[in-house]
Amino acid sequence: MKALVYNGPGKKAVEERQQPDIAAPTDAVVKIVKTTICGTDLHILKGDVPTCAPGRILGHEGVGIVDKVGAAVTAFHPGDRVIVSCISSCGKCDYCRRGMYSHCVNGGSILGNKIDGTQAEYVRIPFADTSLYHIPGGAEEDALVMLSDILPTGFECGVLNGKVEPGATVAIVGAGPIGLAALLTAQFYSPAQIIMVDMDDNRPQMATRFGATSVINNKDGKAVDKIMTMTNGRGVDTAIEAVGVPASFITCEDIVAPGGIIANIGVHGVKADLHLERLWDRNIAITTRLVDTVTTPMLLKTVQSHRIDPKQLITHRFKLDRILEAYETFGAAAKTNALKVLIEA
Ligand SMILES: [Zn+2]
Ligand SMILES: [Zn+2]
Repeated sequence: MKALVYNGPGKKAVEERQQPDIAAPTDAVVKIVKTTICGTDLHILKGDVPTCAPGRILGHEGVGIVDKVGAAVTAFHPGDRVIVSCISSCGKCDYCRRGMYSHCVNGGSILGNKIDGTQAEYVRIPFADTSLYHIPGGAEEDALVMLSDILPTGFECGVLNGKVEPGATVAIVGAGPIGLAALLTAQFYSPAQIIMVDMDDNRPQMATRFGATSVINNKDGKAVDKIMTMTNGRGVDTAIEAVGVPASFITCEDIVAPGGIIANIGVHGVKADLHLERLWDRNIAITTRLVDTVTTPMLLKTVQSHRIDPKQLITHRFKLDRILEAYETFGAAAKTNALKVLIEA
């Protein structure tokens, strides 16, 4: 089968690999129908993720058809159409029993990282019963690829941790796919204002289409001043960090209102300053989280009922044998305006 393989920092190739097989009775093998590329894949390719060894097939998002199941798998059968969760969970360890699947001691964020991933024709999914989700008949599968990772990530790490409430003021710093996923799902709670901040010229326009009440291009570095003016000097109740660099986290520190929450989503590679000298008396909270994908079934229902349409995030489409082009397009998002690139196996 064809697969996209990480061959060490800066190196990737489409290679011919052997099809995966059942290795444990709780495994399933899934024939990938559609997959996509994530910012995390770019981090791995830069060499930022030491747990991912050269030779690894990348990818942790996708939908497919169950091809084979191990003897202990009871909830899925060959032929079932499924969403692959970016988090593999055993369902039995302490963390899983607390709904913290991301920290499963037997799984977690391992797909396309510690084990071979979804950017291939087939993938082996460990703990299939608790790591796959059934796709209802007639569902639009393009939209459901967004349920593997970005939609639950934006919702759980940004909206739920940020305790977005009716009438609240929300700022989302970073209008990439994850920031936009937070924007889509924040609207479940009817906040009064959702302010999107980005440095890109095109993304703020998309954000308006997706329901932002105002957009700020922070190229001039004046986003903090503008948000303070817009909120009568108060700041925002929820500041969602969706970039993963020190400047955007500090922007959140600067705009959070007394009693507010900074909900971090971004993957941070270097330290960001925490200005306690300004924040110690402001009754704020800071949250961090790796997506647990506990909300995937609920989000699936909202997509099915057309309450949200995550398909809007797909800007480009490729066949699997052209996945290198898909990476180029996704990696040059500022030029290509790419959000999510859909890859058909
Ligand atoms: Zn991802
Ligand atoms: Zn577990």
